[in-house]
Amino acid sequence: MSKINKRKYFLTISIVLITLLLLVSIPACAHAAQTKKIVIDPGHGGIDSGCTIKNIYEKNINLDISMKVKSYLEQNGFNVVLTRNGDESLYKYCKTGDTIEKRDLNARVNKINESNASIFVSIHADSYYDHTINGSIVYFFSEQCLQSKALAKSIQRSLNGLTADGKKRMSHNSRAEDYYILRNTSIPGVLVETGFLTNPRERSLLATDEFRQKIANSIASGITQYMKN
Ligand SMILES: [Zn+2]
Repeated sequence: MSKINKRKYFLTISIVLITLLLLVSIPACAHAAQTKKIVIDPGHGGIDSGCTIKNIYEKNINLDISMKVKSYLEQNGFNVVLTRNGDESLYKYCKTGDTIEKRDLNARVNKINESNASIFVSIHADSYYDHTINGSIVYFFSEQCLQSKALAKSIQRSLNGLTADGKKRMSHNSRAEDYYILRNTSIPGVLVETGFLTNPRERSLLATDEFRQKIANSIASGITQYMKN
């Protein structure tokens, strides 16, 4: 091989290797199965309370909203599965992961990936150092994941329109975020932060059944809108 040919050869090999490396490191976007099955994932549970402020436990709020979303969707003809039905951590259902938190998350990922559902929605409540921040924020994995992004936008729009005592909360845009559950799942899905427990007004609202029902209705209506298209 001549010197120039050798250089060309190594250049080509390098380009191929770099391309392969990039392809492996960028996770592929999930695609939806065309079923009427939906997974709702109530965040935390059992020993993992999530965000807790003044005896208000995120895990309980997440489960209650999830159950309300489930019954709304079932009334509209969907088949809904929850990743947990009670106050429990899911770590005992998964042996992979070096911490209890990772095992719990992996159990959720496995349930979602084995569900044969169209989409999944994880339900959480948020906290932030600035206690004036309120409202809901919906997260999807990446701008390239068009189905997850569309689902996030639909739920976000619905939640931004929600009023409590005649007043609107802060409006937000849905956002791309590299959350473990979003990165590792093989169907389109989003993570909903329903409200900020660090905001005193929102915390007392989230403690009421009436407001949790409103949040659940908004999430379920956003899901229904997305599923229509
Ligand atoms: Zn959470």
